[in-house]
Amino acid sequence: MSLTDNSILAELKASGNLPSPTGIALTILEMARDPLVSTDELANVLQGDPALTGQILKYANSADSGARVHVIALRDALIRLGLAQVRQLCLSFSILANARSGPCAAFDYERYWTRSLAMAVSCQSISRLVRSLNPDEGFTCGLLAHIGRLAMASVYPDDYAEILARWNHGAPEELAEFEKSMTGLTHTDAAAAILEDWRLPPHVITAARCQEDGSWITGAAVPPSSDRGRQLGRVLHAAGLAADICVENGPRRHLMVLGFLKAGLSLGFEEMPWISMYDEILAEWERMGGVLDIVTAHVPSLETLVQKARAQGEVIDDRARTRGPATSGPAMTAPRRPRASGPAVAATVGPDTQAVTASATPVQDAATATAEPAQEPGLDILIATDSAIEMTVLTRKLTQLGHRITCATDGRQALEMALKTAPQLILSDWMLPKLDGLELCRMLRSSPQTQGVYYIINTSNDTGAELVEGFEAGINDYVVKPLNHRILAARLRGASQVIRLREQSLRDREEMRRQLSHINKLNRKLESLAMEDQLTGLPNRRAGLEFLDETWSRATRTGESMLVMLLDIDHFKKVNDTWGHDAGDVVLQRTATAMRGAVRDYDKVSRYGGEEFLVVCPGADVQFAHDIGNRIRESVEKNRIESAVFTGSVTISIGVSVRGPEHQSTRELLREADEALYAAKDAGRNKVCIQAPVEP
Ligand code: GH3
Ligand code: MG
Ligand code: MG
Repeated sequence: MSLTDNSILAELKASGNLPSPTGIALTILEMARDPLVSTDELANVLQGDPALTGQILKYANSADSGARVHVIALRDALIRLGLAQVRQLCLSFSILANARSGPCAAFDYERYWTRSLAMAVSCQSISRLVRSLNPDEGFTCGLLAHIGRLAMASVYPDDYAEILARWNHGAPEELAEFEKSMTGLTHTDAAAAILEDWRLPPHVITAARCQEDGSWITGAAVPPSSDRGRQLGRVLHAAGLAADICVENGPRRHLMVLGFLKAGLSLGFEEMPWISMYDEILAEWERMGGVLDIVTAHVPSLETLVQKARAQGEVIDDRARTRGPATSGPAMTAPRRPRASGPAVAATVGPDTQAVTASATPVQDAATATAEPAQEPGLDILIATDSAIEMTVLTRKLTQLGHRITCATDGRQALEMALKTAPQLILSDWMLPKLDGLELCRMLRSSPQTQGVYYIINTSNDTGAELVEGFEAGINDYVVKPLNHRILAARLRGASQVIRLREQSLRDREEMRRQLSHINKLNRKLESLAMEDQLTGLPNRRAGLEFLDETWSRATRTGESMLVMLLDIDHFKKVNDTWGHDAGDVVLQRTATAMRGAVRDYDKVSRYGGEEFLVVCPGADVQFAHDIGNRIRESVEKNRIESAVFTGSVTISIGVSVRGPEHQSTRELLREADEALYAAKDAGRNKVCIQAPVEP
């Protein structure tokens, strides 16, 4: 008797996209139906597919691995598993190999298989605990439990993308409603039709059909243990919760943990054996992930999760209560091109090995990535999430988009890495251990090194108030959990433009600052050139007179004394005439140096013109005039000049004017100094003549 409507299957098959077993697996399916087929015959055929053979052998060694002898020969594996189970495993592994990717861009095929494997090993372990169910059958049943979703995504890619967008990870029954209204059938209808076509036992089909019907699964109406289909359905339901705990993170996970405990109780298991079984599930999930090349992640022990869930039970997001588990959906963009199923590669994602241990195929290079066009040259992105699986998937997808990824598993680590590596963009969870996403953002904004980093927060708190808080903390943008990778990619393109523009503007500003500093330097140079005598390096006449004005003004203000001197080299014309003009220049230079060395730091010697110099001495009185005048005169006289063009020494005559109350201006002071200079010349040269102030 057919359990399903065959017209559904005909319609699904007509598209040509229905995930189906191929090659050797198909032959095995047919052979295993024959009651007379021998194990040897089956082994001979199976050996024609080395990948499938390897997977069957590894599977045979996985179940109860400690309790049985390790099998090496395929024949032994077939005997251990039994023909029916080998048939189902061949079927499952073949579907997996053929449906790692597909045409529905909104369906995350990778995540689908990650969760399906978690469900398979969970269903296997729970079946073993239940005893009346076959663990190997449980494995295939779990792996194929959601085949209806995969099939619908592959057969109706466009409709299913819309269905997933509308559903947006709501309750499972909502998904069925959307499916029904858009395509006329639900994924459970499709699963039942497909599993029947693959000749899986009726109780498996019943289980797949009713696994999501929570009303009887966790309710009081416990089915009789003779009803294998319903019992397997209850096990599948519990396995689904276990799988969700594996792939989910954040507040939703707390609900799943509590639901999983409840499911254990409803199946008649005490909490402790139920919890320790879950840890075996995790180990097996990771191991089989390696065998089947499916991404898995490190998940904390159930005991830890239960403690957290109970501690956080009061504050679980209300929204999460109304939402069902997410298996796939608009959250992630699927690669369209089928990916070769290569050997499993142990990959470590994140800054340290404790972050994530994943079994994954090597990351596709940018040229073969099909999810989104590669952006050149990509961004330096720091991902901060404590969800190992999210980190693995995000790292892979964003690397495919051409970005360079570093990972942090808590807020403090993210802060340290941001300071150290200066990423262009941070994609952070809202909830993070040690320092949450908003605190992290605030801290980054307060540091000059990181204040400009583009910050996208990944949140399930997309209510107005929460987002306002986020923007006030300094986030630039947000993406809503579960992540839709196409939306994320689009947001990153926008972010990239903003980042490039900002970097360009920073570069422009830096260039302007550099040019301005260059111009300032040139100006200062010009200014100093304008105030400097090129031959002697002394301040020129203009600078000397400016200093005189300043000193005059200050002395006027403070009442302090001051003097000016005019100094003239004696018989300088003779130097020029005797030794040549160049010798005259050398004499000017050396005499200038000698004069400068003879005055105090705050006196100023300038070249007044020709072979004449001006000295302004702030705070100097008549007594000081004698001292300083003679000191300069003597230092010049004693300064023996030895050069290629001149050898010898020169003398100077000095006229000094000490400021007194009768002086009205610098001009008067200068005039008097000039008169004193003439007097010094008249007195025979190499003399100091001082014009003392008039006594009041
Ligand atoms: P006195 O003792 O009366 O000051 O006699 P003097 O020869 O020093 O004075 P005079 O004014 O007759 O000559 C000054 C000379 O200084 C004339 C001029 O050619 C020379 N002179 C002015 N500026 C420079 C210069 O920059 N380099 C050289 N080599 N000679 C200069
Ligand atoms: Mg002169
Ligand atoms: Mg002279």
